[in-house]
Amino acid sequence: MWEASVAARRLYFFSVIMAALLVTVMMFLFFQGNHLLEERRPVLEAIGKVKLYTTSAHLSFEEISGGDKSESIDGVWSNLTLADWYCLALLYGGKNEAGDFLPVQDESARANIREIRELLQTFKSETTVRYNNLRRTRPGSKADNESDKTFRQLILLANEVETLERNRFNAGTVRYRYTWIFLMSFSTFMALCASYFLYRKEKDKTRLVTSLNLAKYSIEEKNKELKKRAHYDALTGLPNRVLFVDRLEQVILHAMRSDLSAAVLFIDLDRFKSINDSYGHHKGDLLLQTVANRICQCIRESDTAARISGDEFMVVLSNLSSVTQAMKAANKVAKELIESLAESYQLGEVTADISASIGVALYPNDSTNCDELIRYADSAMYYAKTLGKNNFQFYSRELHQQSMKQMEIERDLKDAVRYDQFELHFQPIWNLDNHKIKGVEVLTRWAHPSYGLIYPDEFIPIAENCGLIQRLDAMVTRKALKQLKEWQEKGLSVGTIGINISSACFRRCNFFTDIRKVIVQSDVDPLLIELELKESLLVEHDNFAHQLFADLKGLGVRIALDGFGTGYSSMSYLKDFRFDTLKIDHHFIADYTRNEASAIVLKNILTLGQELGLDVVAEGIETETQVNNLKAMGCHTGQGYLLSRPLDKDALEQLLNHKTGNVVTFDRA
Ligand code: C2E
Ligand code: CA
Repeated sequence: MWEASVAARRLYFFSVIMAALLVTVMMFLFFQGNHLLEERRPVLEAIGKVKLYTTSAHLSFEEISGGDKSESIDGVWSNLTLADWYCLALLYGGKNEAGDFLPVQDESARANIREIRELLQTFKSETTVRYNNLRRTRPGSKADNESDKTFRQLILLANEVETLERNRFNAGTVRYRYTWIFLMSFSTFMALCASYFLYRKEKDKTRLVTSLNLAKYSIEEKNKELKKRAHYDALTGLPNRVLFVDRLEQVILHAMRSDLSAAVLFIDLDRFKSINDSYGHHKGDLLLQTVANRICQCIRESDTAARISGDEFMVVLSNLSSVTQAMKAANKVAKELIESLAESYQLGEVTADISASIGVALYPNDSTNCDELIRYADSAMYYAKTLGKNNFQFYSRELHQQSMKQMEIERDLKDAVRYDQFELHFQPIWNLDNHKIKGVEVLTRWAHPSYGLIYPDEFIPIAENCGLIQRLDAMVTRKALKQLKEWQEKGLSVGTIGINISSACFRRCNFFTDIRKVIVQSDVDPLLIELELKESLLVEHDNFAHQLFADLKGLGVRIALDGFGTGYSSMSYLKDFRFDTLKIDHHFIADYTRNEASAIVLKNILTLGQELGLDVVAEGIETETQVNNLKAMGCHTGQGYLLSRPLDKDALEQLLNHKTGNVVTFDRA
């Protein structure tokens, strides 16, 4: 801009100079021409007058001498006087009714004029003589001849002066013409240059203006884009958190004025991380886009859906006449969302399944504040997660407090993993026939700085949700194997050591590498290690599970199918995967005494286990009857509170030392 204004100023300055130059040239030419006319024309006129008056005087006298009585000698003298006046005017300047006469500058002309004056005097004297002799002498006398000669001389001289001055006038005119041509050409050239320069400048200016307009346009487009990016999620095209909060505030404001109600839904995808981990981020992005579309299809156009962060979405249902209406609408939409989001996703060549957990908060019942509504919906969603995901929950104060605690635990869990606040407890697994310890199962407890010992059921799901489980299980495995090594060095034999591994770990691509490293570094016989895997692993990742299963088997460790009898309990796993041990869940053990059908199923499971050559372990044995029944049904291995509660390291060592020769029996107390 600064450069442009400098250029404009220069242009203006240049134009002024050009105009001034042109005016100067015109003035110069005007004055030159004027001067030429003023100075030269009167000179020629004056010479003409000299000639005219002299000739008139000569002719008048000739008339007189010819006897013409109408002519008088005074007319002759008057003509000669006038001729002399013009000579003086030519020499020194003069003024009369005919005009202004400037002196002749040329010296030779001046000399001629002086001579003309002298000749005029001579002519006058000769004429006087001739006039006096007129009556005595006859025409053609010597005096007449002299006078004629003087007259001729005079006229010749006048002609000479006239020619001289005419030539000078002509030369001046030629000079003037050339000057005129030169100056006009120069001025025209300069004017052309200036015009060209102006044209160029104008063109540059136009180009500059065009490029400035283009720049302005692209800046505006950029700003629009930035504004869009500031308010919309680039991946799904949905409003982002900023815009959502703004819209929610508008909804609340409108609802306040019109006495309306609204519902805020917080949607979180369950195990979305596994999609990214298993299929890559591109597929994860595709899934999120589909999720966004499905959410939009479940709501009205007047409602707002937004992507808040990674796999979190929010919806606000507005313009609802009452809280009851809001509750009904939220209920309906949440149900539709749960169903719609649970449908399979076609991500290119792969098909993925995912579910969502939803929390709902209502305006004005739960809160009239935008931030609080979001927080409460979030907390309700968190509660829905703890209830096993794939469901929706409405906010309530009690649930909120519960969720708050969960969230606090989640926060603290990160420190717990970083600073290893975990203790290992060991629950012996017994041979029910000879009462000897066959092995121990490692059960982890979290020594929370404020809440004391926290049990796995409370923190394992949280660790699974927030992605800490892999680190946690690897850490527990390392510690457990170190402990086993220590006992071996002390000469204490605990048999196999069972380590629980969460299914969530298997979805992590580097899990196998991590666990192999821990096992190899422990220097423990792999046959003494039994990894306890839950059925859910097999349900969710069939192909993947086969590969991982084979890899783990390749390490030489034993693998137990943990918690069998609850959940999916498909017998087909038992033949498809070569487990070493089958652990029947304690719920199932507790149930079979009350339920005859369960007893039949249990019997069949035990028979199948035996036929497949599996070690079958009954978990959660709490009564003597259970021990006897299990033995009768062919189950010879078990664990449970009746036999021994999970013990800390010292208590287990005590138990082991208490028995002689490391052969321990359980006390049926
Ligand atoms: P699980 O693998 O089924 O472990 C057995 C659970 O049953 C333990 O609960 C144990 O204390 C309990 N139990 C033992 N005997 C009885 C009994 O006679 N009656 C009843 N009612 N319960 C009995 P715990 O220690 O709370 O562990 C719960 C679950 O947490 C475990 O279930 C296991 O799946 C998981 N878990 C424990 N430690 C870890 C760990 O380090 N990593 C992972 N991923 N999971 C773990
Ligand atoms: Ca277990």
